[in-house]
Amino acid sequence: MRDSFNRTIDYMRISITDRCNLRCKYCMPQEGIEKVSMSKILTYEEILRICRASVTLGINRFKITGGEPLVRKGCPDLCREIKQIPGVEQVTITTNGQLLKDYMPKLIEAGIDGINISLDSLQEDRYRLITGGGILSETLKGLDAAQESGIRTKVNCLLQKNFNEDELLDFAEMAFGRGIDVRFIEIMPIGFGKPDTGLSNEIVLQRLQAALPQLTLDQSTRGNGPAVYYAIPGKPGSIGLISAMHGRFCESCNRIRLTSQGQIKPCLCYEDSCDLKPALAEQRDERLVETLRDAIGRKPSGHTFEDIKTVERRSMVEIGG
Ligand code: SAM
Ligand code: SF4
Repeated sequence: MRDSFNRTIDYMRISITDRCNLRCKYCMPQEGIEKVSMSKILTYEEILRICRASVTLGINRFKITGGEPLVRKGCPDLCREIKQIPGVEQVTITTNGQLLKDYMPKLIEAGIDGINISLDSLQEDRYRLITGGGILSETLKGLDAAQESGIRTKVNCLLQKNFNEDELLDFAEMAFGRGIDVRFIEIMPIGFGKPDTGLSNEIVLQRLQAALPQLTLDQSTRGNGPAVYYAIPGKPGSIGLISAMHGRFCESCNRIRLTSQGQIKPCLCYEDSCDLKPALAEQRDERLVETLRDAIGRKPSGHTFEDIKTVERRSMVEIGG
C-alpha cells in the first residue's frame, strides 16, 4: 500500500522478543531491562494473523528481529509459517549469531531467504566488551554456517570512535575476502545509543576510498533497505553504508515495525504507535487490517533524530531494531 507521501510500504520488521542473550552497550544496560511477562508478548498465532492481514495491504517481505530472535523457542517454525502464507515473498532474520550455528539446519528447512549478523568487532576481547559477554568464535561459527548454506548473508557493524574504528579495513577485508555484504550502520539516539560516539559514514567512506581506490558505487539492488553499496569491480562482496543519522533516505522508506507487544511503529524515530491488541481480540481480521492501514497512513515524512526531544524513548530491544 502507499502511504500519504506516496511511498510504497511492503516491508515489516517484526520483533518477536524483547529478551537477549547479549548486552550490547548501545542497546541494553548490563543488568538488562525490566522483563515483560510472556502474557504481554504476542503469541506466534497472533503474529501470523498480523502477517496475513499485512499481506492483504501489499506487505510481502518480513524481517524477524528482537531482542535476539533465536532466544525465543520455535523461531524457525514461525519463519516457516510466515513463509508459507500466500503472497509472502521473503522472510529474513537479524541475529547476533551466538546461537546461529545450531539453528542453521532449522532455518534452512524453514525456507529463510537471508540472515543478517550483527558483529562489531573481530577481536575477541573487544567483542566480549561491546556485547557484555559475547563469544566472538560462536558468532563466527554462525557466520561460516550461514555462508556455507548458500543463504544470503550480511554482516552489520556499528563503528564507534576510539573503540573499534581501527577495524574498518579488517571488516572491508572480511567483505571482499569472504564475498559477503558488510554494512556499516550509524548509531542512532535510540535506547542507549549515543550518536556522538559513533563514526559518521562520511568519514567511513573517505577512509575506505583512501585505502581502496578501486571502490565504486554499486547500484544493483541488494536488499530491502536504505544501504548505499560500494564494490570492487570483479570481486564478490560489497560494503554497505546505512547512514541512519546523516543520510536522508526517508523519502524511499518502505517499512513499518511490529513490536513484541503488538504495537505498530510507523517510524523508528518517534514514539507514535498503533496498538493492534484490541483488533486481535476480535475474531474477524477486518479491524486488524484497518489498524494496519491507519498506522501506514500515520507514517511521517522523515525522522528528526537531530532533535533529541522528538525521539523514541524505548530501547531498541523493546521496539525491534
Ligand atoms: N539481536 C539481534 C541483533 O543484534 O542483530 C537483533 C536485534 S538488534 C536490536 C538489531 C540491530 O540493531 C543490531 O544490528 C544492532 O547493532 C542495532 N542497534 C541497536 N541499537 C542501536 C542504536 N542505538 N543505533 C543503531 N543501531 C542499533
Ligand atoms: Fe541483543 Fe541485538 Fe541489542 Fe545486542 S544489539 S543487546 S544482540 S538485541
